[in-house]
Amino acid sequence: MNSAIVGINWGDEGKGRMVDLLTESYDVVVRYQGGGNAGHTVINERGRFALHLLPSGIFRDGVVNILGNGVALDPENLWKEIQEVSSKGVSVTPENLKISDRASLLMPWHRDLDELEELRLADKKYGSTKQGIAPFYSDKYQKKTVLAGELRDGNAVRERLKGLLEWKNLTLTKVYGAEPYTMQKLEQWLRDYCDMILPFVCDTGTFLKEAQKDNKSILLEAQLGALRDLDYGIYPYTTSSNTTAAYAPIGAGLPSLRIDDVVGVVKAYSTCVGEGPFVCEMSGPEADRLREAGSEYGAKTGRPRRVGPIDIVATRYGVEVQGATRIALTKLDVLSYMEKIPVCVRYRIGGRETDSFPFPTELDSAEPVVEYLNGWNCDISGARRWEDLPVAAKEYVTFVEKTIGCPVAYVSVGPEREKVIRR
Ligand code: GDP
Repeated sequence: MNSAIVGINWGDEGKGRMVDLLTESYDVVVRYQGGGNAGHTVINERGRFALHLLPSGIFRDGVVNILGNGVALDPENLWKEIQEVSSKGVSVTPENLKISDRASLLMPWHRDLDELEELRLADKKYGSTKQGIAPFYSDKYQKKTVLAGELRDGNAVRERLKGLLEWKNLTLTKVYGAEPYTMQKLEQWLRDYCDMILPFVCDTGTFLKEAQKDNKSILLEAQLGALRDLDYGIYPYTTSSNTTAAYAPIGAGLPSLRIDDVVGVVKAYSTCVGEGPFVCEMSGPEADRLREAGSEYGAKTGRPRRVGPIDIVATRYGVEVQGATRIALTKLDVLSYMEKIPVCVRYRIGGRETDSFPFPTELDSAEPVVEYLNGWNCDISGARRWEDLPVAAKEYVTFVEKTIGCPVAYVSVGPEREKVIRR
């Protein structure tokens, strides 16, 4: 069985905890896009972890974790993350972590360029996490970066880096007036980080083909959510890769893979990090209360997340774009303090109400149409079966699944691995 776990909204839906839970029935977990610009928080018997690039199956013995060709492979951050996870007793070896030799390397200058461009944009900035993701993907498409497999040949890779350095310094110095990079700096980067990750680099495409032949089950793990997809999200406030399940076979390294099951992760309310339209946004004390209740601060940047009620219009669109077959509804416990639970059911645009997700620029003038459902006002974090939930909580879940058009298969009621209801 091959499955994908994807975000339906703006990201931070709790995909990491769902992958951590579901990996019990998978042999291989593959990250297929994105880089270290977001974080999956996983809490299990080994501790609390903020994963940025490592697949969330890294905690399960016997699971092989793969970083596919579609990811932004940042050797520096990956090596630091491997060390951090290892220091907490998690074993990371070339047996349980394999990096595609076709993954492109995020170069040290990509992070600089991200920062320089956000500075240039000033108040028109996109809200980048400054991890170099946009410059990285631009360069990948311009064929101006290096594949991880090229690191195997030290001389050849140095020759290539010299050419790239000369080209990139033109942008750094002439466009942004920044310091140029030197080969010396790159030598250090090669030594300190690239050499360290090289033992994990291999032909993961062949590994995956073999796994498929042996009927192994493969789980494809996405980063961010449908509304951040480069092609289908709220452009230009998207990320620079495709976060959709349809891209998973390509970014994972098995282009012919058929995905049997797409688990879409939806948060019981909405959050959004960074800039861009966020129609259902709450403000004032109401927002502060929800942000506190859900600890909504970015895993990578610590930035307070923007919050709002669940957005049915955006979520239904996310379900459609992802081709979700089942939903994991997370953080239902966070809503337990609310007397009445707001739900954004439609948008009002120019005096007209709509329940279809509009063209990105129309979102600027969209206003939320909010309805209220009954709250349950009690602690639900001990619920493990559907029957354990209070009637109002069950009604909330069934309202969501009916209006977004996809069955809810999991409801999570706390961040720990076991705090989940399977329906
Ligand atoms: P991801 O990037 O989609 O994996 O999401 P993040 O890890 O950025 O955000 C999810 C956050 O919510 C993490 O801090 C999780 O520990 C936490 N979380 C996940 N599920 C639940 C839940 O059911 N209840 C509560 N209270 N917290 C949860």
